[in-house]
Amino acid sequence: MDGVTDWAAYAAGLQVDGRALIGGQRVSAIAGDTFDCISPIDGRKVAEVCRGQAADIDRAVQGARVAFDDGRWAHRAPRDRKKVMLRFADLVRAHADELAALETLDMGKPVAMSRAVDVQSAADCLRWYGEAIDKLYDEVAPTARTALALITREPVGVVGAIVPWNYPILMSSWKIAPALAAGNSVVLKPSEKAALTALRLADLALQAGLPDHVFNVVPGFGHEAGQALALHDGVDCLAFTGSTRTGKQIVQYAGQGRLKRVFTELGGKSPFLVLDDADVEAAARTCASAIFFNQGESCNAPSRAIVARGVIDAFTERVQALAAGFQPGDPWQRATPMGAVVDRTQLDTVLGYIAAGLQDGARLVTGGQQVRADTGGFYVSPTVFTDVQPGMRIAREEIFGPVLSILPADSIEAAVALANDSNYGLAASVWSRDLDRALTVARTLRAGTVHVNSYDEDDITVPFGGFKDSGNGRDKSLHAFDKYTELKTTWIRLSAGLAP
Ligand code: NDP
Repeated sequence: MDGVTDWAAYAAGLQVDGRALIGGQRVSAIAGDTFDCISPIDGRKVAEVCRGQAADIDRAVQGARVAFDDGRWAHRAPRDRKKVMLRFADLVRAHADELAALETLDMGKPVAMSRAVDVQSAADCLRWYGEAIDKLYDEVAPTARTALALITREPVGVVGAIVPWNYPILMSSWKIAPALAAGNSVVLKPSEKAALTALRLADLALQAGLPDHVFNVVPGFGHEAGQALALHDGVDCLAFTGSTRTGKQIVQYAGQGRLKRVFTELGGKSPFLVLDDADVEAAARTCASAIFFNQGESCNAPSRAIVARGVIDAFTERVQALAAGFQPGDPWQRATPMGAVVDRTQLDTVLGYIAAGLQDGARLVTGGQQVRADTGGFYVSPTVFTDVQPGMRIAREEIFGPVLSILPADSIEAAVALANDSNYGLAASVWSRDLDRALTVARTLRAGTVHVNSYDEDDITVPFGGFKDSGNGRDKSLHAFDKYTELKTTWIRLSAGLAP
C-alpha cells in the first residue's frame, strides 16, 4: 500500500529529469534539442525531454557495443547478473510511489492502477527474469558416440528496444528484463508521449549495479531517434512494440545495412465471442472491465464483441449499464476507474472513429463524447456501439480508446468466421457454459492468446504475442529468452571407443 495522501500534490513536487541516460550518465541531446512533455490530465507542461537524434542514438549504440564486446556484463556468471536484477527489482518496488506518479502524469491513467498494476508488474517482471537466469541449462544433442554436440545459448549482443506509450514502464520491462538478464546491452527508445518512467528505470538499474553503457535510454521522436535505432548497424536485435503500421516499417529497416533479428508485438482488434448458452452477466462484466481498462488503450482490448443473436439484447443492456461505472475522473483520485487518453491526437483519433461509426449507421448505445474538457485534459466517455456491421471501420480498425463494437452472429460458425475475419490475431475470448463447445471454438480462433470464459488472465509465466498482423514475437515467459539469445552448436570429436 502506498503512503501518499494527496497524489496531485505529491506529483507536483517531483523533480522531473527529461535528459537521456547514455553511458551511465544523464545527458542532453548532442544538438541540445528538447520537446515538451504535456500531461494529458490537464494539458499542462510537465518537463522538457531530450529530443534524441541519430547522433545520440549512435553514441548510445557505440557505448553499448563496447560494453557488450568487453564482457563487463555478458561474461558475468548468471548468478551475479541475477543479484543485480533482483536489486533492480527491489529498487523499482522501493520507488513505486514516484514511478506511479510519473506514469500517471505522463500518460493519464488512474494513479491507483499505475501503482497497483503497472509498477508492481514491472518489478515482478525484473525479478522473475533475474530469478530465471541461473536456472536455465543448455543442451547436449543425442548424437552418435563418436561426437559430443553442445547446444548453448549466448546473448545476441546489442538490443534496440522501441516501446509505445500505453503501458510505458511495463512494456519497457518486458523488453529489458529478459534482454539484460541474458547478458545483452540495451538501447531503449520510449515513446515521446511517455518517456519519464523509462528514464527513471535506467537510473535505478545503475543504482542496482548494472555497469555503465549496458542499459541506455534515448527519448525522442519515432521518425528521428526510433528510425535511427532501427537502422543502426551496431544493433543486433530489434525488439519493437507498437502499431502494425510502424511495425511494418521496422521490419524494412531491419533488412537494410547489417541484417538484424527483428521481433514485433503489434496491434489488435480482439474478438469477444458470447455464445447463446453463455453466462451473459459474467461475460458482460468481464467485457466492460477489459475494454474500458486503461482508457481502452490496450493492445489486447476486446474491442469486437460478437454475440449470439438470442442473447445480444441482454448482453448490450448489461454492458451499457456497466459502462456508467467507468466514467472518466481525476486520475489522482484513488476511486477513479478511467483516466485521460494520452494526448490530443489520440483524443481526436478516438472521436474520429466514433463519428465514423455513427456515419456508417452503427447505433450508439452510450458515451461517444469528450468529457471533462474544462480540465484542459483529454477524456472520452466509455462508448458502446451496437448494430455494427463487419465492414464498418469501427469493426475492423484498431481504435485504441474506450469504444466497444457489438456485432450479432446467427450461428457458432458465423461467429468464428467473423472473429477470424481480421488482419489482426492478438487475443480472443469465447464464452459458453459448455466447455467442450468453448474449447472447440478456442481451437479455431487465430490468435496468440485465447481466453475461455475469462479475459485478461495474466501471468509472467505465459507468453504474450500475436498471429498475423499482430506481430511475430513473444514477450514474457521463458520464451522471451529466444529473442535475446543465439543458439550455438559446438562439436567435439571423440574416439570411437577405448583404446585396446
Ligand atoms: P506507434 O507504432 O506509433 O509507436 C510505437 C513506438 O515506435 C514509439 O516509441 C514510437 O515513437 C516509435 N516509432 C514511431 N515511428 C517510428 C519509426 N518510423 N521508426 C522507429 N520507431 C518509430 O504505436 P503507439 O505508441 O501509438 O502504441 C500503440 C500501438 O502499440 C497499438 O497499435 C497497440 O496495439 C500496440 N501495442 C502492442 C502490444 C503488444 O504486445 N502486441 C502492447 C502494447 C501496445 P514516438 O511515439 O516517439 O513517435
